[in-house]
Amino acid sequence: MGNENLHEILKDITLLKQKLDNKEVKKLKLDLVERIINRMGILTKECDECTEALNDLTIIITRIKDKHNELDKQDYKDYQSLLTQLTTHLEKKHKLIREGHYTNLYMSLGIALGLPFGAALDNIAIGIPIGLSIGLAIGSSLDADAKKKGLII
Ligand SMILES: [Zn+2]
Repeated sequence: MGNENLHEILKDITLLKQKLDNKEVKKLKLDLVERIINRMGILTKECDECTEALNDLTIIITRIKDKHNELDKQDYKDYQSLLTQLTTHLEKKHKLIREGHYTNLYMSLGIALGLPFGAALDNIAIGIPIGLSIGLAIGSSLDADAKKKGLII
């Protein structure tokens, strides 16, 4: 895919963002899609899968645009599953992570570790918030670090 096409699809997304209300923009995850496109636009030089994925995304975005937001259930389903597929590809092949990846991970780890800790103190209720806040502290600092390194999708 050439830079011109890339430019076109980004323009379409900007238009869609203006046309649709906030709820729709969120539902379609257009901010995420924009970041994926920018990211994949660079990766197409070295990755065929990204090139293909970007083509699929272009087709579906054009369809959303042409349908004037009258998407049926199947369209949404296709769209969501394509997005999942793209994020998974970026995570697995290009070692990128989703926003809040470490925070989510360490927060659930914190809860899992906080539970037995609380039980040991004979107070489960105190273990959860302790585990949670430690997890949050570690996770958010790892996320901030990943952001600095440009590893967030
Ligand atoms: Zn790729």
